[in-house]
Amino acid sequence: MSQQPGQLTFVAPRRAKPARHLADLSMPDRRAAVAELGEKAFRADQLSRHYFERLNADVHAMTDLPAAARDKLSVLLPSLLTPVKELTTDGGTTRKTLWRLFDGALVESVLMRYPDRATMCVSSQAGCGMNCPFCATGQAGLTRNMSTAEIVEQVVSGARALAAGDVPGGPGRVNNVVFMGMGEPLANYKQVIGAVRRMVEPAPHGLGISARGVTVSTVGLVPAIAKLADEGLPVTLALSLHAPDDELRDTLVPINTRWKVSEVLDAAWAYAAKTKRRVSIEYALIKDINDQEWRADLLGKLVRNKLVHVNLIPLNPTPGSKWTASRPEDERAFVRRLEFHGVPVTVRDTRGREIDGACGQLAATE
Ligand code: SAH
Repeated sequence: MSQQPGQLTFVAPRRAKPARHLADLSMPDRRAAVAELGEKAFRADQLSRHYFERLNADVHAMTDLPAAARDKLSVLLPSLLTPVKELTTDGGTTRKTLWRLFDGALVESVLMRYPDRATMCVSSQAGCGMNCPFCATGQAGLTRNMSTAEIVEQVVSGARALAAGDVPGGPGRVNNVVFMGMGEPLANYKQVIGAVRRMVEPAPHGLGISARGVTVSTVGLVPAIAKLADEGLPVTLALSLHAPDDELRDTLVPINTRWKVSEVLDAAWAYAAKTKRRVSIEYALIKDINDQEWRADLLGKLVRNKLVHVNLIPLNPTPGSKWTASRPEDERAFVRRLEFHGVPVTVRDTRGREIDGACGQLAATE
């Protein structure tokens, strides 16, 4: 379903839900679920160790479980994601996977391995309702929210590939997770929080990824940012600002018609104050649209002296869009203006462009 310019969709269409999975459940709920199946509660711990620590979801390989228990417990490990297509670049260290969900919905995730770490970029919704005109995902509208386990499974799949040594660089693990794939994570709040909890819970109950290694990126849903600050999960908040003035941001990030630049920045500063975490401001540099020096100056004034880091992203081209990345000299001038204000700034490398796997390019088409 494509959207009219500026149209926002908050509520995902009602669809059949994916099957319940171990990764949907907190530890107490896992014990209850196992008991409901007529098994001893400690089997939940065994199952968790297999799934979250050994990354194994095949009950037949769980030889510490009696055969009858394996059969019963297998209902807690349904297969949720089916790989449809895999594309790699950067000598195999960047890999994008297109997944089919149980109902045919398509999503993508991207694994990026660097010399010192590996980052999994995950989707939180099939499609997106936020309709940012420069983002490929935004153009197709929202299909549905993903479940907690569907989100976690993307990370587990990356972790498995790294552990098995399938990614060049030797066996490794997932160090970072960024919610920068398809979807607006804070529009699927409950499932996303559940997924973050599974990721950061220490093994064997969760994946044991450091909370500071998890980044939730948002267009700026102000009430949800406030709620996130109260979760006691010190994840990194990334705010997709893209313009320092309401006039332009109203068109680039349509949610701005509801919550203005000043409101969303206040929510970000409150988040930083409460979590002591530096907030990332994401700013895609679009040639002659938002890359003027006066805008850099305005941005610098808005964010200077705050617990902040500005991430400039050269715009990644999306099909049919008239927009393109800024000229190198304009990008340099933009950086210089921010540095003049003492604002920490980096230009993000655009991994995966060749495979339409970079920021804003995920469209999940076969
Ligand atoms: N909905 C969330 C997360 C998904 S997008 C959000 O908007 O933050 C992850 C980042 O990629 C966001 O900062 C987004 O604005 C940016 N992005 C989207 N399209 C892009 C494009 N074509 N080029 C560069 N960055 C883009």
